[in-house]
Parts: sequence; C-alpha cells; structure tokens
Amino acid sequence: MIKILANDGIHPDGKTLLEEAGYQVDTTRIAQTELLSAIGAYDVLIVRSATKVTKEVIDAGRNLKIIARGGVGLDNIDVEHAEGKGILVFNTPAASSQSVAELAFAHMFSLARFLHASNRLMPVKGGVEYDKLKKVYSEGIQLRGRTLGVIGFGRIGQEVARIGVGLGMKIVTFDPIVDEARVELHTFNSDNAWLSVKVETSSMEELLRTSDFITLHVPFSGGKPIIGREEFAKMKKGVFLVNTSRGGTVDEVALLEALESGQVAGAGLDVFDFEPTPRQELLQHPKLSLTPHIGASTFEAQANIGLELADRILAYFGDDK
Ligand code: NAD
Repeated sequence: MIKILANDGIHPDGKTLLEEAGYQVDTTRIAQTELLSAIGAYDVLIVRSATKVTKEVIDAGRNLKIIARGGVGLDNIDVEHAEGKGILVFNTPAASSQSVAELAFAHMFSLARFLHASNRLMPVKGGVEYDKLKKVYSEGIQLRGRTLGVIGFGRIGQEVARIGVGLGMKIVTFDPIVDEARVELHTFNSDNAWLSVKVETSSMEELLRTSDFITLHVPFSGGKPIIGREEFAKMKKGVFLVNTSRGGTVDEVALLEALESGQVAGAGLDVFDFEPTPRQELLQHPKLSLTPHIGASTFEAQANIGLELADRILAYFGDDK
C-alpha cells in the first residue's frame, strides 16, 4: 500500500481522493526532530512551509518517490538533493492564482473608496463626526475606465488582467518574457459563452507613465527592488500601488516618501520586507490598505491545492496501490 505523510496537513477533499484510491494518508504532524526516524515508512511526503525537507530527511526517506509542496515556492526543500536521488519534487503554484488576483482587487477597491481609512475611523468618530467623514470619503474614484498596470504577466498577472477586463479597465502589462496572452471571460453557469481578449505586453516606461493603478505579480529575484525612487518618479501623480507578490520587490522607504509627497495616493500591501514584523511606519500609515500575507489563504485555494496534490500523486502511481 502506498503510504503518504501530509506533515503540514492536506485539505480534506484531496485526502478523500487519495484514500478512495486505496492510499494511506497520515496527517498527524511529526515533529522535525522525529521525522528522521519516521520518514523511512513513507512513499510520499507532502509539506507546506513548516516542515523542512533537508538532505538528512531525504536520506532517511529510503522509500520516498515524491516530495510535494502545497502552494508556491520550494525554499524549504533541498530540491537538488532529492532530484539527484530520483525523487519527484513538485509544488502547486497555479492553485491560488485566482485568490491572489482577487485580493489585489480587494485592495484596489478599498483604496479607490477609502474603505481602509473609513474602517479605521468610523468606529472611533462615526458617531460624532459623521458628516465630516462623509465629506472626506466622498472623493473616491471608479475602477471602470481607469488604466491598470500589471507588472509580471504570469499566472496571477493574467488572472488580474482578466478581472480588470471584466471591470472595463484598460490593461497595460510589462513582463520581460511573456509577449502576449489571451484572457478568457467565461459567463457564469455556461460552458459555451465566453469572451476571449488578447493582451499584449508593453514597456515598463509606458506602464509607469500611463497607469492609474499598478499591481505587482513578479517573483522576488533577490536583487534591487523593481519599484524604487526612480520608478515612483515616473508614475502619474496620485497613482495607487498594490503589492501581493513578495517583500523586497518594492522599496518600502521610497514608497513612504512617495506617499508623503502625494506622488502615490495610496497603496495596498500583502507582503513586506520584514515579515513577520513589518515596519511600524507602514502599519500605521493612513494611506495604506494592509493584509498579513493572506493572498493564497482562501477556502477555495486550499481546496485546489489539496486536489492538485492528489491528482498529481494519483497520476504518478497510476494503478499501483
Ligand atoms: P509566474 O511565474 O506565473 O509569473 C511571474 C511573471 O513575472 C513571469 O512571467 C516572469 O517573466 C515575470 N517577471 C519576472 N521578473 C520580472 C520583472 N522584473 N518585471 C516584470 N515581470 C517580471 O508567478 P505567479 O504564480 O504569477 O506569482 C507571482 C508572484 O506572486 C510570486 O512572487 C509569488 O511568490 C507571489 N504569490 C504571492 C502570494 C501571496 O500570498 N500574497 C500567493 C501566491 C503567489
């Protein structure tokens, strides 16, 4: 029987699929220190980010055929060592794209209508300064008709473009690798009615110069931030910026300066330089809409991750049990 250890858990939908195929799925967490003695009994190890799959764990896993990571990234797995031993290593990067894209829009809608600020002040001043708050928050904008700049036109960037097209936004994208993509809008409850739109990427200069909203969907390369002082200076005055990609892609000090000068009207951040202790100046800034790295954390994304893990494991073993 194929034995699977889902050491950081797996969504019940994925677990059921594997169990229905006759596999044993253990979800009781084994502490990192005890993993070395336990892993030898398993054919598959599924982790998220908590379990560290080190060289020692891989060597102790003498029956391991697959190491799977639920979600994006493989930082906690010694991929080279595992692949060197013929073990298949994979993750599920596409499962959460829709959720991250929707969070980017949650920040955009929030910024466009001051929800982030209103939600902070209504409980404190709503009862006594209602009319004053009404006046302050009555200068919002619509997203329809605005230009949306999408930096990074991969999985999430294309989902964002799809939602933007649906809202009636003009899409400008930049990606050094992707030249164009078709985004498809399917109508609810129908398999045969959809709209397909070709979106071509443009230059970074054009994107910075023309966008009313800019959203980042790039990997962290470890080098210089993609958005720094120079890029802020090229943006339209009063632009809104959203970052749900990775801390380090936006220069946070330059962002604070741009918010102070009014060059950036507001920003939505799900990711930070110093997680889990982001800069206090960011956490307390009135022009920021903030979330604690929850882009992929929805019911649907977690279910998709579980199902994708199960599908790939089932495909690997075929009819073996
Ligand atoms: P992807 O690999 O499908 O797409 C990334 C795209 O960025 C690629 O097409 C690549 O060519 C492009 N790119 C690379 N460098 C660039 C640059 N300097 N300028 C413009 N484009 C550049 O990745 P994805 O699945 O779309 O994920 C995008 C980001 O979202 C990743 O950093 C990922 O870690 C992050 N993410 C965050 C959360 C969250 O919880 N907030 C969840 C999932 C993913």
